[in-house]
Amino acid sequence: MRRFLIAGNWKMNGGPYDAAELLQGLKEQKAEVDENVDVLVCPPFVSIGMASEILHDTDIQVGGQNLHFEENGAFTGEISGSMLVESGCNYVIIGHSERRQYFGETDETVNKRVKKAIEHKLAPVVCVGESLAQRKKDEHFDLVKNQVKAALFGLSEDDAMDVVIAYEPIWAIGTGETASPEQAQEMHKHIRDVLAELYSQDVADGINILYGGSMKPANAEELLSQPDVDGGLIGGASLDAGSFSEIITIA
Ligand code: PEP
Repeated sequence: MRRFLIAGNWKMNGGPYDAAELLQGLKEQKAEVDENVDVLVCPPFVSIGMASEILHDTDIQVGGQNLHFEENGAFTGEISGSMLVESGCNYVIIGHSERRQYFGETDETVNKRVKKAIEHKLAPVVCVGESLAQRKKDEHFDLVKNQVKAALFGLSEDDAMDVVIAYEPIWAIGTGETASPEQAQEMHKHIRDVLAELYSQDVADGINILYGGSMKPANAEELLSQPDVDGGLIGGASLDAGSFSEIITIA
């Protein structure tokens, strides 16, 4: 039985001061979340310690927005899995389209990061999704299938069960445009079929598949009521405690 996961991706927003304010607001509204819903916030690295401290007496969990696939060493600007764990994280976003587009992430580095996350018992939230041009050329199903297969390459069934997939059509991220509930369901079902092909129907049925792309209180209900949509990865609307709480309530 899958539980909903409502995850906030703050991106490069919310240094320690702003993070404290936002999290206090969230805490006041949602310290105790419904038993069928997991809630996650992924602040920038510098605010993770603060977030863990503020949220330690709530059910809200904390995650990173990336991790490096090496353990430690001369990798200026990078953060390791053990650092995230030590700072209180139990999830990490991997392969967000912004990382793929601006920071050279490839299917191969995504796979290495997924493996490193699992080694540290951090649940990887693996982002996949097509551009508008790829959708227009009708390449989206093949592209997403290849992204999922590459991200999970070499993972055992047990490890795959810890993975969360986030389907984020690039054309819907931060644009105010959302995939229709039918488009989301169609792709989520496709991803579940890919997982069943890679592992088994049982494994596919146990893996959470989140939708991401301009989810907000006004469209959350329609999206979250689709049978294969198990939650949301939320950017813009997660920066407002009221909107994020509303989405959690809807879930
Ligand atoms: C995201 O970047 O993961 C995202 C879904 O952003 P937004 O909700 O702002 O579209």
